[in-house]
Order: sequence, then C-alpha cells, then structure tokens
Amino acid sequence: MDSLADNRLVAGLPAIDRRRFIGDCEFVDLRFGQDLGRALSPMRHVYFPLTAIISQFSGTRPKAMLEVGLIGYEGMCGATAMLGPRLQPFGLLVQGEGSSLRMGTDGFLLKLLSMPALDRSLRRYLLSNVLQLGQATVCTRYHAVEPRLARWLLMMSDRARAPALRLTHKFLSDMLGVRREGVTEAAAALQERGLIHYSRGRIELLDRAGLERAACDCYAADIATYRRVMRVGRQDAI
Ligand SMILES: [Zn+2]
Repeated sequence: MDSLADNRLVAGLPAIDRRRFIGDCEFVDLRFGQDLGRALSPMRHVYFPLTAIISQFSGTRPKAMLEVGLIGYEGMCGATAMLGPRLQPFGLLVQGEGSSLRMGTDGFLLKLLSMPALDRSLRRYLLSNVLQLGQATVCTRYHAVEPRLARWLLMMSDRARAPALRLTHKFLSDMLGVRREGVTEAAAALQERGLIHYSRGRIELLDRAGLERAACDCYAADIATYRRVMRVGRQDAI
C-alpha cells in the first residue's frame, strides 16, 4: 500500500537504494498553478511527486496547448533525460498543490548509473508514458467532451487520493483543449446524472463507479497499460 509520503517509483526500490535516493533529493512544496518549465526548455530538475500533481502540456503557444499527461505519486517528470538530450519534452504545470521529491538532472543521471533497479524501473515507466501519449491522441481526436471530462476527473482523483478537487471551468477547458461552454455543458450533464457536484471551483465525485461507466475507454486502458508495463498488482488504483 502507498502511504501519502511515498512516490511509487521510489517506494519500489530496494531499501538501501531507496534511502540513498531520498537522501539525495530535496523535498519541495509545489503551489497550484506553478510553472515548472516550458516545453523544449533546459531540464534542470526531475520530479517525483508525493502528494503534488503535475500536468504535462504539449505545444508552446498559449492558445494551442493541450494536456497530454497527468503525473502524481505513481510517476515522475523528467524520465526522458535518460535518452540523452536534457530538454523538457513538455511544459509542466502544477495541477494539485502538494509535496514532491526533486533532484537536479545531472545528479539524477549519475544515480541511474549506480542504481540499476531504478534504471530498469524508469525505462519501463518511460514506455508506459509513450503508450499513454498514444492513447491521449486517440482520446482527443475521437472522444466526446463528457466522457473525457469524466476520465480526467477520475485521473485527478486517483492521484489526489481524494474525492474532491479544486478546479475551475476555465482550467478544465485548458486541460481538455475545448471551449469553456463545452466544459460547462459536460459538467452540468455529469451533475444531472448525480455523478459529481460542483460549486465555486470545487468538484466533488459523488459516484465513482458511475463516473467510471461515464468515462471513455481511455481511463481503463491507461490503467491497464501502467499495470502491465510496470508490473503492479490489481489492488493498486493507478
Ligand atoms: Zn478517451
């Protein structure tokens, strides 16, 4: 089981590696809306969220950006540094405030050389990320706003490990890459079905099983991909 203080990738390391790794990380508190770097900017740090949630954005222009990943305690930001170039492949924005482990990119790459278990686990993680990016493309092209919103709320709730989220329609519209009116309609429809309740920037998930049925297949597909590639058990939510 995860404790609120564990990042799953770090928690899965052999005990001696885990202690060494955490000892060389900084603990940082990330604020809601904090910008952690633009796409294609130099990658100075890698992040292993504990309670924080970080959005990965593709695109560099404000009106042509789309969220392509949501990273919480199950993952990390910066795994592509393993491939060589130290460039942020995506923009990073803090979506859920909370704590994270952080390490300088150079130090992280050195760690990989001395910790083969970490190296193996992060190679798997990178593959699961690539597969999920493919799924995100399918989702954006083929799925309607309402099931995409249901999927996104479930993903946020899984990573927040909480049934209530602080969100605005403007923010959701940026995340899903759709007009704000489209988000308002989809949220109203989910509320009408008794699946969520929203007011003043707070959304509560009232019926998780119902929301899973309302979500597009991408929600279950992402979880299956993560479990298969990372070899985690069925008892884990993500
Ligand atoms: Zn979808």
